[in-house]
Amino acid sequence: MIIDKHVHTHYCPHGSTDPLERYIEQALALNYREISFTEHAPLPKNFIDPTPEKDSAMSLDQMSSYLEDLCRLKTYYSSALKVNIGLEVDFIEGYEKETASFLDEYGPFLDDSILSVHFLWSGKAYYCMDYSEETFEEMIQMFGGLSKVYEAYFSTLKKSIVTDLGKYKPGRIGHITLVEKFKRKFPHEQDLSDYVLPLLDTIADKGYELDYNGAGFTKSLCLDSYPPASIALEAYKRKIPLVYGSDAHSAKGLMQGYQQLERTLLD
Ligand SMILES: [Zn+2]
Ligand SMILES: [Zn+2]
Repeated sequence: MIIDKHVHTHYCPHGSTDPLERYIEQALALNYREISFTEHAPLPKNFIDPTPEKDSAMSLDQMSSYLEDLCRLKTYYSSALKVNIGLEVDFIEGYEKETASFLDEYGPFLDDSILSVHFLWSGKAYYCMDYSEETFEEMIQMFGGLSKVYEAYFSTLKKSIVTDLGKYKPGRIGHITLVEKFKRKFPHEQDLSDYVLPLLDTIADKGYELDYNGAGFTKSLCLDSYPPASIALEAYKRKIPLVYGSDAHSAKGLMQGYQQLERTLLD
C-alpha cells in the first residue's frame, strides 16, 4: 500500500492536462492508500516569475476551483482512497510576508502541504533553479561558481525552515537536494552532507517531515532521489519522518522512483 504526498494536477501550467479522475484511477490501480495533491501554490502577486513562460505555478483565480474539485473528489472516493487537499508552497526570500498572508487565507482549507525552494536570489535577480540545465549554467556564472549556487540554495532552505510563516506553515520540506537536479553535468566536489546535515538537525528540532522525492530518478542528469539514500538515512536516524513524493505531473508519473528509494526508511 503506497502513500504518496507530492502530486501535481492539470492546474499546473507546466504539467499535463490529465483530469484528476485519471490520477485517482491510476492511484487505485497502483494500490495507493493515500494521496496528497500538492499543486504549486500561486506565487505572490508582486513576484515576477523568472521562467520564460511564467508557468511555474497556478494562478490565484484558480484557487477556489482547485479546492472545490479536490473537495468533491475527496468525498466521492473516500471509501477507496484517502485524498488530501494540499499545496506545494514556494519559499521565496524577500516574499515571506506575502507567503504568510496567503497561508493565513488558504491554510484552513488544506489537509497537507509542502514548503519548497525553487527560486533563488542572486543579489540582482531571481532564478528558477530547476527550470533547465541552461538556466542552471547561467546561474553558476551569475552567482560566481557552482559552490555559490549550492550556498545560496542551502541558505535559502535554512531560512525556509526557520522563518515564521504563521500557524499554517507547511509541515514538510520539499525535495531538500533539488540543487542536484543537473549534478551529472555539473558535479559538485564538496560533500553534500556538509550542507544538509545541519539542516536535518534544524528540521528535527522543529518537528518537520521530509519529502522523500522520487522524481530525480527520471531526470537523466540526476538519477537519484531528493535526498539521496545516504542523507535519507541521516534523516531517519534523527527520527524525521520521510514521506514519499512522486512529484508526478501526469497520472503516469505516479509512483515514479518509488522502487529505487530506500523504502525501509519511509514513514
Ligand atoms: Zn511542477
Ligand atoms: Zn517542487
